[in-house]
Amino acid sequence: DTIGRNLDRAIAAHPGREALVDVPSGRRWTYAEFGRAVDEVALGMLAKGVIKGDRVGIWAINCPEWVLVQYATARIGAILVNINPAYRVHELEFVLNQAGIEILVSSTAHKASDYRDMVQQVRADCRALRDVVYIGEPSWDAMVEAAASVPYERLAERAAELSCDDPVNIQYTSGTTGFPKGATLSHHNTLNNGYFLGELIAYNEQDRICVPVPFYHCFGMVMGNLGATSHGSCIVIPAPSFDPAATLRAVQQERCTSLYGVPTMFIAELGLPDFDSYDLSSLRTGIMAGSPCPVEVMKRVLTEMHMPEVSICYGMTETSPVATQTRRDDDLERRTETVGRVLPHIEVKIIDPVSGVTLPRGGAGELCTRGYSVMLGYWDEPDRTAEVVDAGRWMHTGDLAVLRDDGYVQIVGRIKDMIIRAGENVYPREIEEFLYAHPKIADIQVVGVPDERYGEEILACVILRDPADPLTLDQLADYCRGRLAHYKVPRRLRLMDAFPMTVSGKVRKIELREEASREG
Ligand code: ATP
Ligand code: MG
Repeated sequence: DTIGRNLDRAIAAHPGREALVDVPSGRRWTYAEFGRAVDEVALGMLAKGVIKGDRVGIWAINCPEWVLVQYATARIGAILVNINPAYRVHELEFVLNQAGIEILVSSTAHKASDYRDMVQQVRADCRALRDVVYIGEPSWDAMVEAAASVPYERLAERAAELSCDDPVNIQYTSGTTGFPKGATLSHHNTLNNGYFLGELIAYNEQDRICVPVPFYHCFGMVMGNLGATSHGSCIVIPAPSFDPAATLRAVQQERCTSLYGVPTMFIAELGLPDFDSYDLSSLRTGIMAGSPCPVEVMKRVLTEMHMPEVSICYGMTETSPVATQTRRDDDLERRTETVGRVLPHIEVKIIDPVSGVTLPRGGAGELCTRGYSVMLGYWDEPDRTAEVVDAGRWMHTGDLAVLRDDGYVQIVGRIKDMIIRAGENVYPREIEEFLYAHPKIADIQVVGVPDERYGEEILACVILRDPADPLTLDQLADYCRGRLAHYKVPRRLRLMDAFPMTVSGKVRKIELREEASREG
């Protein structure tokens, strides 16, 4: 189905139920109101001459208009291009030109106040760009007012021209391992993914989903927004960008039943000095995804955050995004040791990354997935697409995984992160899990750095619980002795205040490696 028709169904089924709540501004929309607001933006874009297949960029932190633009562009067959809120001028110019963006919707609110300057700087060099609309400013109001000049029937006419296989979105990957790639996704890709992941959580019109993750990333816009509207649930925006206290306040105030986040966000929420003072009893579920979750954190999320059904999802932008997910009745072991099993209508296999041969269950190799969820391709980059999607339409994820006998998948690490020390394969994740329990360590990342003798050496980057109580390499080695194979013990240590992060909340190991290599 198309996203527009699916939204129409939710509006018809639950017109009076809430669809969207913006906690910072106190604005709220029922499904009927939301549908009207989306139509206004859609008609306003038609008034600007947006035709099917045109690229409309959005460059803003989370706000309700982001969601309106998402559904409005889907309604009129435009392709929404999500632009990373952290981008600076050169990256902005790159995306505007690479995707050929014609209309850009941006915002000067909050931290984003210099977006206008950056847009001005690049505007002359972006040939496709013909209009910029700023949310909450006269240009936005003018677009919405122009809706009245376009006959309402034009929306139905446009809807009749759309197919579920049309592209609806270009989403850039997080850029964790290098420069982001623009995955082109269809209605079919993203809507089905939102629908099926929501089915596995048993969402319905009673659910209220707190979305502190950025809309610009598929976690927010597909797992959050499409997961919600395909089930008549409500999207709750706690803050324009992640704020742990605002998130828990929103859960309490809006009686949210579901809370999303990457593990680092849950760690920040659990670490709030007044964590115990929030009433989180309305929660039943949520989604944790994007990177591995330390076991200790998961235990606290299940109990202290009242999320006994929390879902672990694994996936990537290129697969719209979710490929595997834990089920509601899974036990602690499956929620901490695995990323669940494959979603309906998706296949997974594990191959030997070198020979490409499919491995029997239990063997570690590259995870490949196939099904409705695999992207149409990287926008305008057929060669890069062919590097990851093979002739059989299998997406090669670049992740190392094991498919267990019970059908559950364990992520071992990224192929690019694997350390080869003196010929031994070392998986950073295993060392991180082990050291996470060290009393002095608040957070840890393990990376490989070049070493003349061993090829690569293991570096532990550590954030201390108490900076006044330092940790030495000898103390770390003592802690590991006898409990970790000798070749896995970190030989270098670096104490840090914070890790370099992507906007989607992942640690950029590539930067940790580069920094360490520069400094020798
Ligand atoms: P880039 O491709 O630009 O380097 P990225 O791969 O981080 O960035 P995303 O598409 O946002 O961009 O993230 C997908 C990746 O995130 C997966 O390939 C996997 O490595 C990791 N990942 C996602 N979910 C999980 C999870 N539950 N556990 C462990 N890793 C995960
Ligand atoms: Mg990737």
